Amino acid sequence: MPLTSTRDLMNEAVDAGTGLGAFNIIHLETLEGLIAGAEMAALPVILQISENCVKYHGGLEPLALASMSAARRAGVPVALHLDHVEDERLALEAVDLGFGSIMYDGASLDYQANVTATIRVSEYAHARGVYVEAELGEVGGKEGPHAPGVSTDPAEAADFVASTGVDALAVAVGSSHAMTERSATLNLGLISELRGRLNVPLVLHGSSGVADEDILDALAAGMTKINISTHLNGFFTRSVRQHLQTNPTLVDSRKYLGAGREAIVPEVARLLSLFAKKRN
Ligand SMILES: [Zn+2]
Repeated sequence: MPLTSTRDLMNEAVDAGTGLGAFNIIHLETLEGLIAGAEMAALPVILQISENCVKYHGGLEPLALASMSAARRAGVPVALHLDHVEDERLALEAVDLGFGSIMYDGASLDYQANVTATIRVSEYAHARGVYVEAELGEVGGKEGPHAPGVSTDPAEAADFVASTGVDALAVAVGSSHAMTERSATLNLGLISELRGRLNVPLVLHGSSGVADEDILDALAAGMTKINISTHLNGFFTRSVRQHLQTNPTLVDSRKYLGAGREAIVPEVARLLSLFAKKRN
């Protein structure tokens, strides 16, 4: 199965009225576990590398090339996405490397500066066939746990999409990044209103903090792409911790990283299957 374009996966999900899981790669073991989970579910998946992850590894290319190689060998369609990039040069680098999509995050800029920068990045990406996600209304949480976000204004969102030509929009509707409990309350009315006003798919960030039933309600109200990172990191790390506690003399890092990798596989499969249910 080839590395698939994000555009194709998003269009298929919109046409089918289903959701699409987008999960973050942190290192090779998560990459392998995420693909194994998608194969277990026999469903497509979007894999994402964030700017924070690039900073951790000291560069984009090594993990990006490994991810593309793994995607090409996968038994299901896999798209590669650059998540939350504030550095425009990094966004352009991802386009040049062959990513299927990029998310330019100008949400911390004032509105006009966000529009101007998003247009610049979108023009470069679109000229090379790359799908662009942007964010309006800041989804909080990265500056500290449970920091409140600012809800996306539907009229401003409609203007933003028309002005920038982006392909998908991340909206702030009550979720928050990096939550370790699934206790966020989503504004379903706002999701419906945004769905009605915008002609591009909507993206839910911070979905780690949203319970299964609420994600299903969000899909029914009009969400398409569901971003999850922290929730799966929890499965990975709990497994590593348990493995090290039960094997205190262990030195081979493959043993505990392998346990972490295995631990995310069934949860990835479960989430993808949940999101792929048809909207009511
Ligand atoms: Zn996000």
